[in-house]
Amino acid sequence: MNASLAPLDSTTYERVLVVVAHPDDIEYGTSAAVATWTAAGVEVGYLLLTAGEAGMQRPPEEAGPLRALEQRAACDAVGVSHLTILDFPDGTLEYSLALRKAIARELRTFRPDTVVCGSGQVTMPWGVDHADHRAAGLAAIDAVRDADNRWVFPELARGEDLAPWGVSRLLLSGLPPTHYVEIPDWAVDKAVASLEAHQAYLADLPWHPAPATFVPEMLSHHGVPDVAHALPFTLMPLREG
Ligand SMILES: [Zn+2]
Repeated sequence: MNASLAPLDSTTYERVLVVVAHPDDIEYGTSAAVATWTAAGVEVGYLLLTAGEAGMQRPPEEAGPLRALEQRAACDAVGVSHLTILDFPDGTLEYSLALRKAIARELRTFRPDTVVCGSGQVTMPWGVDHADHRAAGLAAIDAVRDADNRWVFPELARGEDLAPWGVSRLLLSGLPPTHYVEIPDWAVDKAVASLEAHQAYLADLPWHPAPATFVPEMLSHHGVPDVAHALPFTLMPLREG
């Protein structure tokens, strides 16, 4: 992190789609920024590419539905109503045309001006990233281009009546950041509540630090002077607007 990050101007944002691999991925920081956006009247949607069914001690057929319920509660904590959970396999998510098409379908349906996703890096500031996160980030970035091209996955337009849609900007994690979202105390509290919503999941991880200490701590490591809590992003403008 460095001191040259600029505050993100999100005043023109109307619809934001966050694309991740698993339930709970958004609750490790991103949900704090989401709380500030929804409070400002921005419509935020979540797209989860897997149900996270391989992430608990209990069998996948129990874990998947349970994690969907907990993700719904996490959405409620930060004012998100639009939640889509796809059924790509948790733990063995592959970058594929099928994955890109599924994300493009959601982009053309939800029609966001802004997409938040990973950048597909092997390593993150905290260590080696999960293979599913890499696949999800790369596929989401590529699907943004696919969604805007009527000749890519033409069956989306012809068969499903989903017209091409151009996203205005990407907000990426995992790269050297360019901007930050300042997180006021009330939004930190909402972010904590959103991670706490994954109650049964966290109960399976006895080593996991308490969200009430972990989330504020995570949001304090941004390197922006005189700002207590913030979330950094790499802003990639795609078109004017
Ligand atoms: Zn994950």
